Amino acid sequence: MPQLRVLVVGASIAGPMAAYWLAKAGAEVTCIERFPSLRKGGQVVDIRHSAVTIVRKVPKLEEALVASGAPLQGLQMVGKANKPLVAIQPTGIPEEQFLISDFEIFRDDLATVLYDLTKDNPSVRYVFGETVSAMRQEKEKVIVDFANGLLPQSRYDLVVAADGATSRTRALGFNCNVRDGIDPYNAWAAYCTIDKDLLNGSNMGEFSVSTPGRGIMLGPDHVKGANRVILMGNNPRDMPERLLPYQEAAKKGDNAMKTYLVDFFKGHGRDEILAAVAESDSLYATECVQVKFPRLFNGNFVLVGDAGYSPGPIGTGTTLAITGAYVLAGEINNHPGDMAAALQAYSDRMQPIIKDMQKIPAGFPSVMTPETDWGLWLRDTLLYVISYVMVVYQLKPVAQFFRWIAGVYCIAWARDSYGIPDYEWKA
Ligand SMILES: Cc1cc2nc3c(=O)[nH]c(=O)nc-3n(C[C@H](O)[C@H](O)[C@H](O)COP(=O)(O)OP(=O)(O)OC[C@H]3O[C@@H](n4cnc5c(N)ncnc54)[C@H](O)[C@@H]3O)c2cc1C
Repeated sequence: MPQLRVLVVGASIAGPMAAYWLAKAGAEVTCIERFPSLRKGGQVVDIRHSAVTIVRKVPKLEEALVASGAPLQGLQMVGKANKPLVAIQPTGIPEEQFLISDFEIFRDDLATVLYDLTKDNPSVRYVFGETVSAMRQEKEKVIVDFANGLLPQSRYDLVVAADGATSRTRALGFNCNVRDGIDPYNAWAAYCTIDKDLLNGSNMGEFSVSTPGRGIMLGPDHVKGANRVILMGNNPRDMPERLLPYQEAAKKGDNAMKTYLVDFFKGHGRDEILAAVAESDSLYATECVQVKFPRLFNGNFVLVGDAGYSPGPIGTGTTLAITGAYVLAGEINNHPGDMAAALQAYSDRMQPIIKDMQKIPAGFPSVMTPETDWGLWLRDTLLYVISYVMVVYQLKPVAQFFRWIAGVYCIAWARDSYGIPDYEWKA
């Protein structure tokens, strides 16, 4: 049987992970990325349950992830007037995690680890600075035109869109609009690195909140004298008008976004962070959306990662991307010569996992970033009582207690129960 030719669009997490497993399934993979090099930026992302299972199937990957892990040791929840409330740390058990994962890694470091894993593989080729301009399907092949002339028009057995929640490739593959299938969450997040260490050398991050629905997470960086920051804004779902100023700023570019952020966080009490954000040259702001596309494939075109099932504000995107990339390649491996059956099997296996990981726990994200002063008081009091009970009754370790709560509250943080198969790879 001739070698399967696959085009993967997007080289962040889902793309390189899919390239690795597709090569194991015997495919020849071309992975293109719109940016001229691996894209920098992002705060920590988490690798949880099914993704931990999958990472452990790749020789030496767990060690590489630990070696590149973020220095973050935990998160200090800070209340009104920047009063420390409770410190949340990893559980110490990678299979059972809570808010802070045992595999906390900066998004760009994870992308680098996965790229390094695949870049010298003779079956995988990366092309940076390229994107798809047009695509059509004919006799079980996808004919692709490229925008920047780095690749000639080519025919593929499969095109994989791994280009994120607002995937343009998805719009081409399904002949629809970019916003189709997107469920807005009325929330946004902005990430950047600042050239100041406002944690004074500590590896304990800080999460401060203020009303209405504002949160700032400050974390350590590998580089001494620098911190990584996430700024977030959550609005009630029935008030889309509150998102308009953010969307206007996003359209205008980085300077407008910085002005918006300074204005949005007026009165939050961390002006020194905002001043450093205004100086940063690595700002990346994104609306938090869920992707709920009715189908994961169309003929020989398929979605993986955020492009197919971004979970939005709950932070399971990286776990889903790693899981989806593995299952897609595994089912192709298990259905030689029958792409339709392979993609159907991928979709059937992923749908319940996606449904589970897209579940937004009751009260989320208001529990994290309350919209009212009363909600903020309740949250702070609750956190204070928990930390007091922990100390007085010496309930240890705190994180395992929290994980137990998480297991009851939100299944997506609990242990791997998805029955991810062990595929027998060709290569
Ligand atoms: C710069 C950046 C920072 C992020 N920071 C965080 C974070 O701090 N915390 C968090 O939880 N999540 C973050 N995310 C999202 C997180 O990476 C994803 O939720 C998750 O890991 C799934 O990854 P993905 O590979 O499916 O999508 P993404 O990580 O969104 O990657 C999509 C990739 O496709 C590329 N691309 C986009 N359009 C095209 C195109 N038309 N042609 C070719 N390539 C294209 C993008 O440049 C990007 O490299 C970030 C994403 C990016 C891009």
